[in-house]
Amino acid sequence: MPARPRTYLDWNATALLAPEARTAMLAALGLSGNPSSVHGEGRAVRALIDAARRDVAGLVGADPAHVIFTSGATEAASMVLTPDFRMGRTPLSIGRLYVSAIEHPAVREGGRFDKEQVIEIPVTAAGIVDLAALEALLDAHDAESGLPMVAVMLANNETGIIQPVRAAGEIVHKRGGLFVVDAVQAAGRLPLSISDLGADFLFLSAHKLGGPKGAGALVSRGEVLMPKPLIRGGGQEKGHRSGTENAAAIAGFGAVARAAADGLEARTARIRALRDHLEARMAALAGDVIIHGRAVERLSNTTFFSLPGLKSETGQIAFDLEGIAVSAGSACSSGKVGASHVLTAMGFDAALGGLRASLGPTTTEADVDRFLDAFARIAGRRRQGTAAA
Ligand code: PLP
Repeated sequence: MPARPRTYLDWNATALLAPEARTAMLAALGLSGNPSSVHGEGRAVRALIDAARRDVAGLVGADPAHVIFTSGATEAASMVLTPDFRMGRTPLSIGRLYVSAIEHPAVREGGRFDKEQVIEIPVTAAGIVDLAALEALLDAHDAESGLPMVAVMLANNETGIIQPVRAAGEIVHKRGGLFVVDAVQAAGRLPLSISDLGADFLFLSAHKLGGPKGAGALVSRGEVLMPKPLIRGGGQEKGHRSGTENAAAIAGFGAVARAAADGLEARTARIRALRDHLEARMAALAGDVIIHGRAVERLSNTTFFSLPGLKSETGQIAFDLEGIAVSAGSACSSGKVGASHVLTAMGFDAALGGLRASLGPTTTEADVDRFLDAFARIAGRRRQGTAAA
């Protein structure tokens, strides 16, 4: 008997490759010029990169001249989170980096800042960045050290909870700081505009919206105030990011950025209906399930839940054996599951495991039903205080 196809509910870890990305990448692989070469072969690849730049700029309402392609969001974060900026030709120093307690490690690690220059902004029990705490931290900022920089994500990767980014940006700008937004999980799921967000910089990752892994972008509001390059060399990307561009990956990124706005509302509504059904059934099947962030604004595709007595890794393995891919807390690259820093920041016991099911454009009702069947078995088998599942 052929193996039953698996059910993929881990779109926040990475989205399945979209057909338009595959097509664009295969076409780009057929071109072999170096985009920095002035001959026809080079110009053909340059044209493809410039078209993708326009598409990525369009995704976030930015000027294409303000898009720098990178190897992903982690590199973009490392580029922008630095004490060394230039205002035109004049060096400008950033004294401290303030990051919300629920940021992705790409931001929480502080980029090129020393550990002691990185200060955490707490979140409320509801999982939302505490704006009063941000104000207090910035009021206590030592201006002698340099300007403050603040990084707050638009949507959290674990809970999907949407953060009050615009209000945070106003607080930061009132105090003369720089404001950076991680828009990785929001891209393709919410309408985005860099100016509406009030961000000086935002960054994106292609693979979260159906593009290839290993492509991303740092997008800036202007061109005058820029971070010191992270990678120096041949001066590609106007000197901000040297190295021959990964043209095929950039073309795939452009294709999904272009497609993202098409039918966004209908797609989101369909996914939200599936997710809401999934959550309502989970609550009916296991009365003690804790669904995080249910009362606040969240991404429509994400559900992050805890089943008391079930460890994250045990739950993840149990779903995997049922043929379903879900995520357990924050998976390190080693595959080991650590305690969720997001749940800890929200005030939960570090021992409470979290499991995340995240849906995508091709998720079906049958996928959700299969998940719920497995959920009923796994919830029924667990023993309070033991890992049995
Ligand atoms: N920021 C968020 C919110 C993410 O979810 C991720 C991916 O896991 C990243 C940053 C890092 O992105 P990349 O894989 O492109 O380095």
